[in-house]
Amino acid sequence: MTFGTEKPRVLDGIAIAAEIKAEVAQQVTEALAQGYTPGLAVILVGEVPASQIYVRSKVKTCGELGIYSEMLTPVAESTTEELLALVDSLNKRDDIDGILIQLPLPAHVDTNKLLDAVLPEKDVDGFHPINAGRLLSGASPDEVLAPCTPAGIIEVLKRSKIAIAGQNAVVIGRSNIVGKPVASMLINESATVTICHSKTKDLPAVTREADILIAAIGRPGFVTADMVKPGATIIDVGINRLDKAEDVERFFPGNEKRREGFEKRGSSIVGDVDPAAFAVSSAFTPVPGGVGALTIAMLMSNTVKAAKLRRKS
Ligand code: NAD
Repeated sequence: MTFGTEKPRVLDGIAIAAEIKAEVAQQVTEALAQGYTPGLAVILVGEVPASQIYVRSKVKTCGELGIYSEMLTPVAESTTEELLALVDSLNKRDDIDGILIQLPLPAHVDTNKLLDAVLPEKDVDGFHPINAGRLLSGASPDEVLAPCTPAGIIEVLKRSKIAIAGQNAVVIGRSNIVGKPVASMLINESATVTICHSKTKDLPAVTREADILIAAIGRPGFVTADMVKPGATIIDVGINRLDKAEDVERFFPGNEKRREGFEKRGSSIVGDVDPAAFAVSSAFTPVPGGVGALTIAMLMSNTVKAAKLRRKS
């Protein structure tokens, strides 16, 4: 099925992330001229391979944009108290503008206690209750540190000139990291927002009302073509690993590039939206290369924003 005769527009997250990073690099130059270097501290507890990859990539991007970064790697056995002391020392340092605690933390650590200990003005992940509350009470995007993935979604929509005000936006997923904050941000942009979750009745009937459909569920190819209103914009936040060749063939039938990639790496990635559903839309973010690309760019942007807000520069 296709929407009209037009092919849907692919919203290129990599290109938009590059644009944002170039703007951040310019802001860093301005900060240097004012006599300071924005600084980010990343805390990685223990040795979780996936987290190590994310953290390295965050630190590398800081280097590329001229942001000072520090990686702190306390051992997996660290207690909540020891980690609180580390956060406290970073809170007090003037050269550190942003503090990021890479999740997930080991099970014995009190994650909420630790996230709440980060000074709200250094909370570049936007997870602190003060920042979540500010977002909910409609603070201007320039004045609040919003979570990176939701902030990236809004950037994709705005920079792709997709209208938000007055549109019906449906968010599937109510997590504190994606679903709830993106819903708040869409309300602040004057969309009419519905949040769906695992207990929603007749989900397809709700999603078919969406002009903007945001899927943040964590289930491969969950949103099918019959759940999408023709001409809607689809934002696919999901990152799901496929380990079986038959699943790759099911989601990407006859796609040689995908098949070869799977044979080389032993896995492939699919979002929360069945790729066949994109044909019904007027625009969509691909996986990979969509929203995922934005998250680090927004972290960089938040670090520079935190530095400016703290110095009122
Ligand atoms: P989560 O597990 O915290 O939340 C999933 C949400 O989906 C829940 O609110 C749940 O109610 C809802 N849900 C589950 N099953 C459902 C069903 N059958 N019908 C309707 N709703 C259902 O997940 P999360 O942290 O919000 O992440 C969601 C997805 O986004 C994951 O695939 C994750 O990997 C991805 N993600 C990507 C980025 C990025 O691009 N950088 C960042 C964060 C998360």
